[in-house]
Amino acid sequence: MIPERVRKGPVIIAGPCSAESEEQVLATAIALQKEGRTDLFRAGVWKPRTRPGSFEGAGEEALPWLNSVQEHTGLKVAIEIANPEHAEKALKAGIRYFWIGARTVVSPFSVQEIANALGGIDVAVMVKNPVNPDINLWIGALERLNKSGITRLAAIHRGFSHFESAPLRNKPIWELPITLKRLIPELPVFTDPSHICGATNFIREIAQKALDLEMNGLMIETHINPAVALTDAKQQITPSELSNLLTSLSIRSSCGHASFDNTLRQWRELIDEKDDELLNTLSSRFAAINEIGKLKKENNVTILQLERWKNIVDSRMQDAEKFGINPTFMKRLLNLIHEESIRIQEQILNNENKI
Ligand code: PEP
Ligand code: MN
Repeated sequence: MIPERVRKGPVIIAGPCSAESEEQVLATAIALQKEGRTDLFRAGVWKPRTRPGSFEGAGEEALPWLNSVQEHTGLKVAIEIANPEHAEKALKAGIRYFWIGARTVVSPFSVQEIANALGGIDVAVMVKNPVNPDINLWIGALERLNKSGITRLAAIHRGFSHFESAPLRNKPIWELPITLKRLIPELPVFTDPSHICGATNFIREIAQKALDLEMNGLMIETHINPAVALTDAKQQITPSELSNLLTSLSIRSSCGHASFDNTLRQWRELIDEKDDELLNTLSSRFAAINEIGKLKKENNVTILQLERWKNIVDSRMQDAEKFGINPTFMKRLLNLIHEESIRIQEQILNNENKI
């Protein structure tokens, strides 16, 4: 997938979120090349912005700048393409590495059009996960490209959109890239900590986790002067910060096959993540109970409403059966949750009585 390399270890794709000017891409690329850790230079030319009205990339004008990067530094350049016109213009400008962004991967029609435009040409394409956690959509995009004759493919886990406010911009769901690796063992799977984090503070942690889970590389947004970046300023780091970050990561050796230790570790990571989700879900459920408790108190309604409880038990027991969850366990779990819900509501009532 990546250009020829002598170095071992994870593939590093670095470069700015957006190509802003020839000076900016060149200065960033030269600094990255001096640091000697980058395998592929990235820069967005056409930027998919969630809301209109902000910088949407320099467009076609940026293509010759990226050509200068290739000429001056010897680094190969990858850009995002979202339609056949982008593909044609980039190919004409001598670019042979591409990625398809998370917002485009959700659309099979768009992916197919891109696959058709690239068909029969020796290019490498990285496919980001779609914004929603649908592994089939992700695999489907890879398949469309592969059917067009593109064999140099990779996937990038960049996290998933979520509604609740959270410390990370896009929630990583490691189960998906792990499953992708299991289903398509020869496919390199990279992680994009920059778009997962949305800020610089957790990038190291996410990058380390990616390596611990045997992801094959990292895409990290790197800008010569992040403070003045036109897009994603908060999540970009400088080339020297990138080097420090990479030096600080522990690259654990892998024996190249799914050994007992590695497989066990991956499952344990998954369990940690699922426990975290369980706790999050429980905490939002109890927060909702709290609100219901207040509402009942204000309206002088009884805490225990038997009909509602009976409906909950019936529907959850049916769901549990569909998911293959043991009914005895499910019943005990429901009772425990119910007891706690009642305790929370009683507490609300008692507090008021004291006042
Ligand atoms: C990007 O890499 O600049 C980008 C827009 O990524 P994503 O599609 O992951 O949002
Ligand atoms: Mn970006």
